[in-house]
Amino acid sequence: MSAGRFDVAVIGAGAAGMMAAAVAGQRGLRVVLVEHAAKLAEKIRISGGGRCNFTNIGTTPANFLSQNPNFCRSALAAYTPRDFIDLVEKHGIRWHEKHRGQLFCDDSSESIIELLKRECDMGRVAWRMPCSVAELEHDKTDFVLRTSLGEIRAAQLVLACGGMAIPQLGATDFALKVARQFGLKVVEPRPALVPLTFDPEHWKAFGALSGVALEVGVTGGQGKGRAEFLEDLLFTHRGLSGPAILQISSFWNPGEPITLDLAPGRDLERELLVAKPGNRQQLNSVLSDLWPRRLAEQWLSNVDGVEHGVTSLRMADAPDRLLRRLAGQIHRWSLTPTGTAGYKKAEVMRGGVDTRGLDQKTMQAKAVPGLYIVGEALDVTGWLGGYNFQWAWASGMACGRALQAK
Ligand SMILES: Cc1cc2nc3c(=O)[nH]c(=O)nc-3n(C[C@H](O)[C@H](O)[C@H](O)COP(=O)(O)OP(=O)(O)OC[C@H]3O[C@@H](n4cnc5c(N)ncnc54)[C@H](O)[C@@H]3O)c2cc1C
Repeated sequence: MSAGRFDVAVIGAGAAGMMAAAVAGQRGLRVVLVEHAAKLAEKIRISGGGRCNFTNIGTTPANFLSQNPNFCRSALAAYTPRDFIDLVEKHGIRWHEKHRGQLFCDDSSESIIELLKRECDMGRVAWRMPCSVAELEHDKTDFVLRTSLGEIRAAQLVLACGGMAIPQLGATDFALKVARQFGLKVVEPRPALVPLTFDPEHWKAFGALSGVALEVGVTGGQGKGRAEFLEDLLFTHRGLSGPAILQISSFWNPGEPITLDLAPGRDLERELLVAKPGNRQQLNSVLSDLWPRRLAEQWLSNVDGVEHGVTSLRMADAPDRLLRRLAGQIHRWSLTPTGTAGYKKAEVMRGGVDTRGLDQKTMQAKAVPGLYIVGEALDVTGWLGGYNFQWAWASGMACGRALQAK
């Protein structure tokens, strides 16, 4: 084997790429990892508010969106959250569960990057970083990469370049371009786990609520792609954010409404009618017992269909039908976003390389022997809560175990 030739070239030293490279290297394969950024694994570093929500102990295939929903089953079953926790503990990293099965580092996400780096070192992985790939082709035996650090030849190629979220950290559509170059199909990519925005004129009044947060039920999407979450909502100057909105954004399609239940788990109609007789409180102060005062006031004066002047109406004077309608609107506030905050603010990309062209046990392209694709570049998108890293580890592991010495 010549000095510039490897069994495997992995492009992208993020979560999935380092996992695949380390596993293949530790099996004795000659692996080179090519990364164009100057700083390693920036997305891991900023993830989970700097503590990396590295997995979710409740992970199942149902926590992922894909046009081919069964594709992720095999890899997720072969490498579980428990397997990654064992690796985390082997490296002495302390962790805790925060919320609904989400596991975070006690200290810093840096420790996960260190873990992956050490695992790569154990596999004697060669690094080319920072290094950009100008051209890529396959001759009769090898993938040939023309890079800023010279030519690299490898019998197998792993695309681990992630998705397009946060381009300011080096995210690109490189994996999609290369996949297309080799004849693979791509499911239309879109920003996901992303804030939703509204018409600036219409949103002016609610923009004043920027910073207000509350727990809501949220529903969105259509048909089989319909979903419902109970999470926190955050008002922003341009629209809505917070976990509830990030979750539903992955299911939302342009032009569709989302529905918010602003008082989840309560029967507001009954509560208002029971509270009415002889009650001299104004409507807005009754709602202020339920919500932040700013929200109660803005909502009563700005939601379509609520008559002007009801804010200061006394409960005892409010007609039952008005209270019923108010309760209905609070439990089912339907609003249509005009768009998303885009890849700059998205946590992930939805869509990606169509998995129907890949083997689900190995991540190898069926029509292009030797070409593997892992992680977020694939059309497998996890919910918010540690699922996307679990997919990166599991798909990287499946690929790392399948690569061969050539
Ligand atoms: C703000 C934020 C917070 C997040 N928090 C969480 C969390 O807590 N839990 C969770 O599960 N998920 C989280 N995610 C999602 C998670 O980071 C990704 O799903 C995961 O990193 C995907 O792994 P990957 O290896 O496929 O891609 P990445 O980790 O993105 O790695 C891809 C690598 O490829 C490199 N690359 C790209 N193009 C090229 C090229 N042309 N040449 C060479 N290299 C290239 C990139 O620089 C990068 O290093 C978060 C995402 C963001 C943006």
